[in-house]
Order: sequence, then structure tokens, then C-alpha cells
Amino acid sequence: MTATVDLSGVIKRYGGIEAVRDVSFDLPAGETVALVGHNGAGKTTLLKLMLGLIRPTAGSVRVLGDNPAQGEFGGRRRLGYLPENVAFNPALTGREILSFYARLKGEPAAKALPLLDRVGLAEAASRRVGTYSKGMRQRLGLAQALIGEPLLLLLDEPTTGLDPALRLSFYEIIQQLRDRGATVVLSSHALTELEERAGRVIIMNRGIMVANGTIEELRRVAELPTRIRLTVAEGGARAAHAWMGQGESGRDLGTRVVEFEAYQGRKLALLRRATEQGAPVQDVDIVPPSLDELYAHFLRRQEAAE
Ligand code: ATP
Repeated sequence: MTATVDLSGVIKRYGGIEAVRDVSFDLPAGETVALVGHNGAGKTTLLKLMLGLIRPTAGSVRVLGDNPAQGEFGGRRRLGYLPENVAFNPALTGREILSFYARLKGEPAAKALPLLDRVGLAEAASRRVGTYSKGMRQRLGLAQALIGEPLLLLLDEPTTGLDPALRLSFYEIIQQLRDRGATVVLSSHALTELEERAGRVIIMNRGIMVANGTIEELRRVAELPTRIRLTVAEGGARAAHAWMGQGESGRDLGTRVVEFEAYQGRKLALLRRATEQGAPVQDVDIVPPSLDELYAHFLRRQEAAE
């Protein structure tokens, strides 16, 4: 199956700044990809390259089997884009704005307007956008990006400004699109919320792709310890340390929780010990390395290698 996106040896320079340095990856259909990195890491530049808004200085970008920067790129109608700072004409209503973007994409407005309902803006559809809150403008931006049932959706920091309820409904919409086979690329700093939702994570640092894989793959490569958290009775921490044995250094988190770090190969032995008959343990939690920790690890590793 051809990839929805295929980048090979891509370099993008702006004068003396190398915004993207020799990046290659491909994204299959139906995948949700988190593009993460510090400010200035090159995330927006990658999105713009995929959209064909800019051309690579070197290397090739293929989207839906074509070069997106070519004038006659036929796949453009199947791309949806939510820019980082979404700005609309404040004098127009939500409905007028959506109709305008539908026309630009060659879609009948009648087909696009139900999207306002889908993002929870049905009641505000006849209000001028100048009266919208930031979250409402963000929802309108998302509706605009969804016009034409995109096969590739590129979202630049899409959940900034959304309240928790809206974030949830946003990720439900993403899930529905993915189920229909769309590839969704989200650039974001919200690592915790992406952890459960992204099938793949691409970590950028100063233009270099420092990691690319599923969270499980990144965990395997990083070899960071899994934490085993034991809940003990009040005053039982010392007994738990002694029980877990020598050579295992646990640390106390509060008065009733002791945490042990289990490096690869040690996890099962530690769990067995913690759950053995007679263990001074009331409960056990297993905490794998978070995306935040993986992110910090891959950045450190690259900086140490430079
Ligand atoms: P953020 O999280 O802050 O949005 P980002 O990862 O999206 O950052 P980019 O916007 O891709 O980062 O920028 C990457 C680098 O390229 C930065 O050093 C930026 O200053 C530079 N850059 C981006 N666009 C231009 C431009 N049009 N002209 C000159 N330099 C640019």
C-alpha cells in the first residue's frame, strides 16, 4: 500500500537557518501521528512542506502519491489544515466562513455546513465570529479543516484553547476520521494527552528527527525503567524496602507509597516479590515511562551525541 505521506532526505533552509535537517519518514493511511518538539524544532515547517506551501531545499516530499508543491497537485482537496494561529474575518458569521472555505475547496456548502454541528457550533452558526471565544474559533478552524472528508489532516497545536470537554470531543472526531482511513498529523506540546491517542510519535529537535515510532517502540529503544509503586500500610515503608531485598533501591513517595525502578528484565522478578504471600504490600501499580520522560530522554541522547 502506498504511504499517505513519504518524506525522503528532506532539508529546508531559510537563509542560514536549517529548519529541517535530512528528515525521512513515511506515514501509512489510518494512522494518528504526534509531531512533538520544542519551539523552533521544525514542526510547522514539516506541516507546510506536506501541504506544499513551501518547497524543500533538498530531498523529496510525496503526499497522496504526488508532489504537493506542484501547481496541479490533485490531492489538495483531500488535505485538511488547521494552522497554529487560526484567524477569520470577524465580520462574518461561522456559517458564512464555512461556506466560503467550502467554495474554495470545490465542495457544496450544504455538505459542509453540518460540520458546524459536529464541532458543537450549531447554535452559534449565525453569530459573527468577532463575538466567538478562542475555543469557538478553534472549533470553527477544525470544522474548516474537515471540509471534503480529508485523507490527510494536518493540525498545528489543535487543542490549544480548548476546554477539557471540548478536547475529548475533538479526539473523538479524530478517532472517527482515523477509522475512515484518514491519516492525522497533530503537532503539539500536550504530551500527556497524546500519550493514549497517538499511534506514532515523531520527536523533532532543532530540525533533526530524533525518534519515530509507536510509544511501545520508543519505550523499548529508550530502555527507561518501569516504575513499580507499592502501597503499604501506614508506617510500613521500611518493611517494604526490606522485603524487596538488597540491591533494589526504592524511594518513598509520601508515607504510604514506595516506588521501585525496574529496568528491562527485572520487572517480573520485582512484581513477583511484591505480590508474594506475606509481602507487606496492599496494592501494586505499574507505571511505564511516560511520553514526557521518553521525550526528555531522546532529546538528551541526541544532545549528548552532538
Ligand atoms: P513552535 O513550537 O514554536 O511552533 P516549530 O517546531 O513549529 O515551533 P518552525 O516554525 O518549523 O518550528 O521553525 C523552525 C525554525 O525555522 C525556527 O528556527 C524558525 O525561526 C525558522 N523559520 C520558520 N519559518 C521561517 C521563515 N519563513 N523564515 C525564516 N526562518 C523561519
